[in-house]
Amino acid sequence: MTTKRKIPRVIASVFVFVFAFHFVYGPAISGQEKPISRQETLRGTITPERAWWDVLHYDLSVRFMPETRSIKGSNFITFKTLLPGSRMQIDLQTPLNVTKVIHGGSELKFEREGNVFWITFDKEIPQGVEDRVDIYYEGRPKAATNPPWDGGVTWGRDDLGNWYINTTCEGIGASVWWPNKDIGYDEPDRGMKINITVPENLVDVSNGRLKGVDHDAQGKTKTYHWEVTNPINNYGVNANIGNYVNWSETFEGLGGKLDINYWVLPHQKEAAMKTFQEVPRMLKAFEHWFGKYPFYEDGYKLVTVAYPGMEHQSSVTYGNYFRNGYRDRDVSFTGIGYKFDFIIVHESGHEWFGNNISMKDAADMWIHEGFTNYAENLFVEYYWGKKEGSDYVIGSRKNITNDSPIIGTYGANREGSGDMYYKGGNMLHTIRQIVNDDEKWRSILVGLNTDFWHQTVTTQQVEAYITQKAGIDLGKVFDQYLRTTKIPLLQYRTEGNKISFKYDRVVPGFAMPLKVVVNGKPMSITPTESVQSIDATEPVKTFEVDRNFYVESAALL
Ligand SMILES: [Zn+2]
Repeated sequence: MTTKRKIPRVIASVFVFVFAFHFVYGPAISGQEKPISRQETLRGTITPERAWWDVLHYDLSVRFMPETRSIKGSNFITFKTLLPGSRMQIDLQTPLNVTKVIHGGSELKFEREGNVFWITFDKEIPQGVEDRVDIYYEGRPKAATNPPWDGGVTWGRDDLGNWYINTTCEGIGASVWWPNKDIGYDEPDRGMKINITVPENLVDVSNGRLKGVDHDAQGKTKTYHWEVTNPINNYGVNANIGNYVNWSETFEGLGGKLDINYWVLPHQKEAAMKTFQEVPRMLKAFEHWFGKYPFYEDGYKLVTVAYPGMEHQSSVTYGNYFRNGYRDRDVSFTGIGYKFDFIIVHESGHEWFGNNISMKDAADMWIHEGFTNYAENLFVEYYWGKKEGSDYVIGSRKNITNDSPIIGTYGANREGSGDMYYKGGNMLHTIRQIVNDDEKWRSILVGLNTDFWHQTVTTQQVEAYITQKAGIDLGKVFDQYLRTTKIPLLQYRTEGNKISFKYDRVVPGFAMPLKVVVNGKPMSITPTESVQSIDATEPVKTFEVDRNFYVESAALL
């Protein structure tokens, strides 16, 4: 996903935040203290009714009926028991309804609690077995109001009047359109089948590979059978229904031959064939920085949609007007953003950070968005050099609001601040400066994607990994940028040859090494919260902090 474009909304929320901060809570409360509701707890935690079973495979079948804006389908869930269990939590949001649950040929009892269905098995299933439960459901799903941010189903029409239907569900959750275990930590280890039935004149494009199409001439429908062989995050699953045409190419990459498929509406094809030449360029750059594309078995697809774009695994969606920039904007304010197609680069970057490495809890969403924002400047660096890359990531600091911490609220499906994008990217750019060894830094980025290959992780795992591989304790650096809204302030004073300095606005024990430039010459210092003084070899005429570090500076009084 990308950051919301609606600037007035951001300003409004800042105002509300400041207002609430001063007049309701008084000082020193993060503004995120809204009590966690029962529904949020059920959604955002590993409840006992989730913990005993591990998803192995989803076999999802959904019929889309645009005339009534309704859907009807089933999800056959294959699971392995980690513990004995008899009560299962399945998530499906209102107004959709579970109509029937089948286990071993007989119907099971179930009851509803908001967006959760409690399913009771006839007898306890022992630990260590593989089993299957079939969930049948139907209804008129929530319509998306501002996709992809406020998601659901978009029952749209293309420019020629044909149905153009998309699903989007990041944040709100996949259970807005299909029943599943709707939390990040558990992905189907063996992948998923996605069988989508549509009016016979339309095409469905979902994730993975198209294995076949059935035509029901009497019912005037077609069913598209898609298959994903790798684990997939729930919100990455999507259905795109329209008058699609396609073409393909092969990319020779680090994993061999990668099948690339492009799906567009007929009148988009000419423009798309030009713009989508960005795809192999993107793959080349990201395989350099992050290692091989994580889903060779499932291929790579780019699919046009009516909203800006989303990182749907192995079927990245695109709605960026076939022009460079991000919907005619440059998020870095430097002009560099107009050199590439933002949506192709950003959303595809998520194949590594988001889809290959996925968060267990939505509070750690920065693992997706911070790294993928950072990936944009690595793409720039790969094609236009290190200075342009730095200009891009530094320029994007203008988007940072420091309204609330990047890490959200655990156990409640609550993301942190939108600063996870640009501040997350700038934190990683800063850490690269601390590591001060570009090959080592690249090996850490590749290593993350290798050692956490197809896994769900916590921020603690990512932080510990980078610290260990860098050989530098970065714990306080992560604490500062991920868990506070304060940007470190370097206070300094120069007198003759003497330079005095200290950090302010930092977490206790923060001692991040810093590069500074004294009389035009680079120098390393390690400020702390106490004043330190060093002697330069000559009288200090100019002193600046290396701009690549995301810190501010001011006079030491
Ligand atoms: Zn994103």
